[in-house]
Amino acid sequence: MKRIIGLALALAIWLATAALAAAQQAAPPAAVPTATPIPRPAPISSATSGHGATINLYFDKLAQGQVGVLQAAGPDLAGLTVRFADRAIEGFLWPGEGYFALIAPRMEQSARRYNLDVYLTYADELRETVNLQVEVTGGGFITQDVPLAADKTYLLDPELERAELARLESLFSIVTPQMLWRGSRFDLPIPGGTLTSPFGAFRTFNRTFQTRHTGWDIRAAQGQPVLASAAGTVAFAGFLDIRGSIVVVDHGCGVYSTYSHLSQVHVTRGQSVTAGQVLGTVGATGRTSGAHFHWEIAVNGVFVDAARFIQTWLPGTER
Ligand SMILES: [Zn+2]
Repeated sequence: MKRIIGLALALAIWLATAALAAAQQAAPPAAVPTATPIPRPAPISSATSGHGATINLYFDKLAQGQVGVLQAAGPDLAGLTVRFADRAIEGFLWPGEGYFALIAPRMEQSARRYNLDVYLTYADELRETVNLQVEVTGGGFITQDVPLAADKTYLLDPELERAELARLESLFSIVTPQMLWRGSRFDLPIPGGTLTSPFGAFRTFNRTFQTRHTGWDIRAAQGQPVLASAAGTVAFAGFLDIRGSIVVVDHGCGVYSTYSHLSQVHVTRGQSVTAGQVLGTVGATGRTSGAHFHWEIAVNGVFVDAARFIQTWLPGTER
């Protein structure tokens, strides 16, 4: 009897092991997002419109390159647009919560007070404007001298840089109106990675060529996997002169992330990716003297401080 129980137990363990192996094989090559969601904060300030809509600001001042969440909610509200620093910012449907817009001052935007004009549209075509203000403060950006090997100095060409930025801006201008990031918060593409060279730095290459740092660098070894910061759709996977092999992910509502200087790219344009999915591996392609990972986030076509962005609560990031 004891022997039969022993055999049955061995068979059960074997079956369970086989089932586990099959499940592991069938699993997609995606890491489960582990970052703890950021709790939803209370709005910092609120305003009520003449027609009874509520506008909540989840920020007070905004530093250059920082992102703030604006919410508009109310009966029959059917649309939101915001005018900030002479730019029209599109508002997006926030299911069950009205509409939201992401307010993002450029890294080079002058530090001062700005008008924040909130345009509300109602179901009966009625329109209303609420005039608010926001103060933009300095980003505290550092100055860096970056050495570049002689065989790469041809990449210190303002025309090349201008053309590459124009190419990225044209990608960022395509706006997907859904929150593709829904269900998880944005996270570092290199888990536990150490941030090195900061966003917004005033850079001088080889003490001659001056530019701004549009993203963050993360210390990483050649071949290390690079993960999607959040769920989205691959908008571009290819080669650019300065950024080298690059993946650009559209997260919806005008939010994009980019992953540069890759050695290998594992995704193709149009592909849906989950948060934490492997996009490629760290490399040294493009304008770099060694293996180095460069990470960018853009909001409404503006490069923002990605490290600060992933610490900011966003609509739809609750699980
Ligand atoms: Zn960089």
